Parts: sequence; structure tokens; C-alpha cells
Amino acid sequence: MSFEELRELDSRYMVRSYGRHPIAIDHGEGATLYGTDGKEYIDFASGIGVLSVGAAHPKWTAAVAEQAGRLAHVSNLYYSEPYIRLAEKLCTRSGMAAAFFGNSGAEGNEGIIKLARKYSWEKYGEGRGTIITLNKSFHGRTITTLAATGQDVFHKYFFPFTEGFRRADPAIESVKQAAGHDVCAVLVELVQGEGGVFPMDQGFIQELVQLCEDRDWLLLADEVQTGIGRTGSLFCFQQYGVQPDAASFAKGVAGGLPMGGFLVNEKCRHVFGPGDHGSTFGGNPVAAAAACAVLDILDDEAIAQVQEKGQYLRDGIEGLDLPCLGQTRGMGLMIGVEVADGLSNKELCAHLNEAGLLCLTAGPGLRFLPPLTITKDELDKGLAVLKSALS
Ligand SMILES: *Cc1c(COP(=O)(O)O)cnc(C)c1O
Repeated sequence: MSFEELRELDSRYMVRSYGRHPIAIDHGEGATLYGTDGKEYIDFASGIGVLSVGAAHPKWTAAVAEQAGRLAHVSNLYYSEPYIRLAEKLCTRSGMAAAFFGNSGAEGNEGIIKLARKYSWEKYGEGRGTIITLNKSFHGRTITTLAATGQDVFHKYFFPFTEGFRRADPAIESVKQAAGHDVCAVLVELVQGEGGVFPMDQGFIQELVQLCEDRDWLLLADEVQTGIGRTGSLFCFQQYGVQPDAASFAKGVAGGLPMGGFLVNEKCRHVFGPGDHGSTFGGNPVAAAAACAVLDILDDEAIAQVQEKGQYLRDGIEGLDLPCLGQTRGMGLMIGVEVADGLSNKELCAHLNEAGLLCLTAGPGLRFLPPLTITKDELDKGLAVLKSALS
């Protein structure tokens, strides 16, 4: 189908919940994607942090094809090998104790919200269900995860939202002000993604860990965007030197197939018992086999390179000295770039996409989330597009 036909059918048959770029992507290899018209794009977006090992990685493709040809689904009424192998890999490499699998980031966060409330209910009874979340955070699109999200732009139309969330700034005094006898947990992104790529201050996180311990609040890490190697360690909390009580993940975990979930530490491994939580597709064998392949590809060496590649890209962007761009920030291959005053990040992003560099916005800036396996050659090609399109 031509692009015009696709656009026409999309507008006729799709709910209009997305503003799309006028580009139709057909296939790809690594961090290079091709439009239906054959045009080449360098991928600095990886489908919003999902294509963690790039497009059509041979090991990933083989693992998915093999499992699809064997069995696509079993349900959680039975054991199956792929989700068990995946849980073992995630736990041994993160130091966490146990895993739960669902299908998306929002679902992972819903799970850890339920976990915190049940943990507290069993110990302290009713009335301690409030969870503190941070301004500029993003936790998902369901009614409850929207309620948890600390950005007013998302809080329109859909009232009533779920009760039991209170907002604070990422500073210990602000969190203490939000404290109360009704609180059971704090939910944080260690690097805020959608809000603008803001890494949390190391000292704040240390103080937060202490505060959580003092009050017996659970520390919940939303690692949906930061997890699975994105920031240069398997989970971002490993670089902060803290262990949360639970951490959600999704986006990059299965390298392009829908999967999300959460990990819990030893203290929380028995909070849920049979019947407390579930998900029909959770731990689906094809998604789990894909995720096992992702974790094998992203071994310790590949993840160490994420830090180097991130630094290379940030140095490269700043070295271009483009008047429309400002400082870069972030961790690993999760990079935010400031946009000069008076310029629209959305317009710049649209311009770059059309010029052949797929990228994202976050908060008021641009955001780059390339595949973690991106090559130096592809990084250089992306930088060349930035230079020619924005000079
Ligand atoms: C993307 C994202 C979510 C939501 O994930 P979905 O898979 O779209 O539900 C939640 N939290 C963070 C930090 C995210 O980046």
C-alpha cells in the first residue's frame, strides 16, 4: 500500500488517539529502519525504548520463531520453561528475589501499587493505602497509573481517578511534607523519562531509602523506561546503589513484543499469594523467549558499552554546537537534549524525523533512546543527520 492509502485507511478506521509523523515504517535492521517508500531512517527512538536490541536481531528473531512454532500460549495455570528461565535471569542479574509478568508498563506499575497496599494492609490494617509520587513523573495511561502520574496535563476529562496518591517534589523535605499515617509507599522513576529525562539526585535517593526504612514504606522503582540496560546497568537502581522493594519493567524487556511486569525483593516475595494477582497473557512463552534472547544479547559487556555509547553520543551532540540545541542530560542511552528558548521541541522532532532521524520529545526537550546495540557507525550517521538538518 502507498503511504497515502495507509494514511486514508488509518484515518477512516482508527481511533484518533495518536498524532503520527507522516512516515510509514516497513522493516529494519539494527538501528536502521526503512520506510514503505524505501527511505532510510536512523533509529534514535527504538519505538519509545522498546527495540532494545534493534530491529530483526538474528538471535532474537530465531528465538521468537522457534517458540512461535512450538507453542504460543499456555496460561498461568501451568508451568512452562520460557518464563521460568526469564525470571531466573532477571533475578540473578538484579539481586531481586522474584518476578511477576504482565504485558505493559502500566500493568507492571498497577502490580507494584497493589503489592504496596497489600503489604501495608496485612501489617497495619486499613487506611494506609496512600502512595507518594513525584512531580514530572509518568507512570502509565490506566486510570490508576494516571492518578499516580505527577503531570497535570494528563489529569483532564477522565475523572474520577483512583484515590490514594499524593505528590511531592524530588527533594527529601517535600517528601516529608507529604508524609502521613496513611502512606504505605513511594513510587519513583530514577531517571524521569516522559517528564524530560531528569536523573534523580543520588543524595535524595539515599535519603529516601532511609525515610522508607524509618516509616516502613515500600520503595517502588518504576523502571519501565530505565530498566533492561537502558541507563548502562541492567536496572538503574544498581547504579544508585540501592535495592527497591519492587521494580516495574516493560518497554525494552522483550525487544519488541509486549511484556511488562515487576521484580520484588526478599521482603516482598510472599506478599502476593495464589489468587491475589494475575494476567492472562503474563509470562506468555513467545514474549518470554524473546526476553530471554534480549537478556542473552545484553550481557554484561554489551551493557557496559551502553555507558560508552551514551557518552559518545552526548559528546557528539554537544560538539556539533548547534544553536537550536542546548545541554544534554541523562544516563547511558537515555538522553535528553534541551531546545533553545523560543523553539518548539515538537517541531524540531518532526523536522528530524522527516530528515531521516527518528527521535522523541520529553518534557520541553528532545529525547534520544537508540537501540542499545546501536553501532558507532549508526551513531555517526545519526549525528550527521542532526548536523545537516539543524545547521
Ligand atoms: C512508558 C512508561 C510507562 C507506561 O508503559 P506502557 O507500556 O505504555 O503501559 C510507565 N512508566 C514509565 C516510566 C514509562 O516510561
